[in-house]
Amino acid sequence: MAEMTNAFAMAQQQFDHVADLLGLDHQVREMLRWPMREYHLRIPIRMDDGTMRVFQGYRVQHNDARGPNKGGLRFHPAETIDTVRALAMWMTWKCAVADIPLGGGKGGIVLDPATLSADEKERLCRAFIRNLWRVVGPRQDVPAPDVGTTPQMMGWMMDEYSRITGQYTPGMITGKPVGGGGSLGRTEATGFGVIYTVREAMRRLKLDSSNAVAAIQGFGNVAQYAAKGFIEQLGGKVVCVSYWDREDRTAYTCSKADGIDPDFLMSITDQYGTISKDEATKAGYQIEGGDQWITKEADVLLPAALEGQINADTVQNIHDRVKILAEGANGPTTPEADDVLKARGIFVIPDFLCNAGGVTTSYFEGVQNDMNFYWTKKEVLEKLDDKMTSAFEGVYEMSLSQNVFMRDAAYMVAIHRVVKAMELRGWF
Ligand code: NAD
Repeated sequence: MAEMTNAFAMAQQQFDHVADLLGLDHQVREMLRWPMREYHLRIPIRMDDGTMRVFQGYRVQHNDARGPNKGGLRFHPAETIDTVRALAMWMTWKCAVADIPLGGGKGGIVLDPATLSADEKERLCRAFIRNLWRVVGPRQDVPAPDVGTTPQMMGWMMDEYSRITGQYTPGMITGKPVGGGGSLGRTEATGFGVIYTVREAMRRLKLDSSNAVAAIQGFGNVAQYAAKGFIEQLGGKVVCVSYWDREDRTAYTCSKADGIDPDFLMSITDQYGTISKDEATKAGYQIEGGDQWITKEADVLLPAALEGQINADTVQNIHDRVKILAEGANGPTTPEADDVLKARGIFVIPDFLCNAGGVTTSYFEGVQNDMNFYWTKKEVLEKLDDKMTSAFEGVYEMSLSQNVFMRDAAYMVAIHRVVKAMELRGWF
């Protein structure tokens, strides 16, 4: 079969598969296979040299039966309406599986942000909101940072919205800097959330976490806090992380058989997640090829870098000892590799459950903005643990009761919740 490359066609195919398992009515499927609303924008911007340039932007609202749409904004040259549609649909399922009262949305502008000056970026962010302000907001659709966008950009967009509406409205967007309406704990949220689900999986599989070994791919935001959580909260050992070396233009695995020290490695890692090879070698770390992380003798494999890393070629290299695959990254496993994992009995914590700690804490940010009252980091992380633990529980129970794998179970829980909300509102 030819590889499916259109992200939206893939998202629809995944949905159709679970709709079959759930026996969903034809009209309900017609509703959920497509976004409820899409905005296509042509945005003219005056550049610093006085010329005008027109940008193509999108905002897609997939489904808001359970609450306001939620999802990031990407500034990327390869953005298309179909990538935005797929990501918006996946956000609907992610918010539903985490059981936070939000729907799914996503947006983007087709551009390479590195080609714009700070002033040009600010004008573009403000113009994006001038085009969309009537259809976004705390009760309608709440954007956030994603690939190519930053907390500063969220600040400009929040300011533009507040000026137009005449009301300070920090909850119209999340991912704002702390002190500018952002939430404490957001930096740790996704990585720690991954570890809360790993802890629950180990409990169900009766694995002793204090003797457990993990191998991690990536050393950016998610991987750094997942590594810290695995060691500090579960008492386990992390034998490697991996990273993309921007100078050498290749990936490396940075290993230590008696366990890495994440704080030390973070002190020699730049803002893009590249570790200093020289400093690591000096401190006794071994630098191996980028594909070595997957071969390690470990109980838990934790991909936290890119999509498609566990595929038909690499899945064969997974060590016999591996019992859990915790998908910190979005889409790290291809369908072919998934079949092999099933056959080998490796327990998969699917991405939209495993990495839902990020959006859950964005939801907490919106709640704090609404109350105009801010929680301590401890409060945020305790609430996050409760949410992630019960999300895991819901999916695990579904997998047992329906005798399905965790990924199908997660889709079943999510789609079931969205369908129920539509029914309760009288849409069907
Ligand atoms: P990041 O940019 O902070 O870090 C990415 C890391 O991956 C870096 O260390 C980079 O060097 C490494 N990397 C890149 N290419 C690699 C390669 N070929 N081999 C090995 N390592 C490589 O990104 P992040 O925020 O940590 O996100 C990682 C994944 O998690 C992505 O799939 C993202 O969509 C997903 N995710 C992130 C969040 C979040 O809150 N940050 C939430 C949900 C999902």
